[in-house]
Amino acid sequence: KQTIFSGIQPTGIMTLGNYLGAIKNWVELQNTYNCAYCIVNMHAITVKQDPKALKQHTLEAYALMLACGVDPEKSVAFIQSHVTTHAELNWVLACSTQFGELSRMTQFKDKSKRYPDNINAGLFTYPVLMVADILLYQSNLVPVGIDQKQHLELTRDVAIRFNNTYGNTFTIPEPYIPKQGAKIMSLADPTKKMSKSDDNVNGFISILDKPETIVKKFKRAVTDSDMEVAYREGKDGINNLMTILSTVTGDSFETIERDFAGKGYGDFKTAVGEAVAEHLRPVRENFDRLMADKSYLESCYKRGAEQAEKISRRTMEKVYKKIGFLPR
Ligand code: ATP
Ligand code: MG
Repeated sequence: KQTIFSGIQPTGIMTLGNYLGAIKNWVELQNTYNCAYCIVNMHAITVKQDPKALKQHTLEAYALMLACGVDPEKSVAFIQSHVTTHAELNWVLACSTQFGELSRMTQFKDKSKRYPDNINAGLFTYPVLMVADILLYQSNLVPVGIDQKQHLELTRDVAIRFNNTYGNTFTIPEPYIPKQGAKIMSLADPTKKMSKSDDNVNGFISILDKPETIVKKFKRAVTDSDMEVAYREGKDGINNLMTILSTVTGDSFETIERDFAGKGYGDFKTAVGEAVAEHLRPVRENFDRLMADKSYLESCYKRGAEQAEKISRRTMEKVYKKIGFLPR
């Protein structure tokens, strides 16, 4: 069986973008692969976090991951800071990643523009920690949205270089990017990707938003001034809504165009909102149930940490040996 790794930051409540671009695939891949899924709280502190909120968001993100269908009996489901190998491999790999390589990362450029008063070293080296996360589990595939493609390319470069220098150590991973839903756009600005840390709550659908809120946010979604529900260049807002509807219902763009021919944007937006609200209903219900039983969640993430520690420690020992660290 091949191995899969992926992670999500507890920087807020998961959005529809995270769900359609990543988590939905995590769930589908569980039956065919050995999967390790992680709440990456160490990545989250590259931007300012309120400690109390971070703690709460971490537990919620973990519960949400299970609520979406990640099964802790099938997959290793854990929290990054519980497994110390991530920090250990991060350091080793930081020493074989170049300043120039990291300077080219567009996420760093975007986030340093967004948080100009906190351009910290961790934000800059974020991709190295991500490389460590992935390589520790000897992952073959990494299901992510399109925004993470560049970091995956870096992961491959670092792994190949390390293998060439020290001998075969890491499996070279490939990104797994869905054909549809890999980049869900903001509802408030359809030229920007939907992000859970967006300051404008109208830009994103949180997967825990109430059905009324979801419908309301879709009704307000920014579109264009013509009237046709059609997937076409230049119609970013409508293209985004069509992508969302198609991913959620399985209907093709042609079907959607036919269904909404001659109808206005109002009807269309309401239909998308209702379809999404309905699609997310079971997730919300599972989440409420899980959050009511903290001791169950705790037992899951404790076991996940033990499993992840065991798998990743093997890689870590191999790495230390290769680079010439004297064993204790
Ligand atoms: P932040 O704004 O804090 O970076 P985020 O919404 O980008 O939050 P991440 O935790 O960084 O979420 O990413 C988790 C996963 O969701 C990644 O695989 C990422 O590629 C994917 N993802 C994020 N945003 C989108 C989006 N708009 N469409 C599809 N996939 C997305
Ligand atoms: Mg992100």
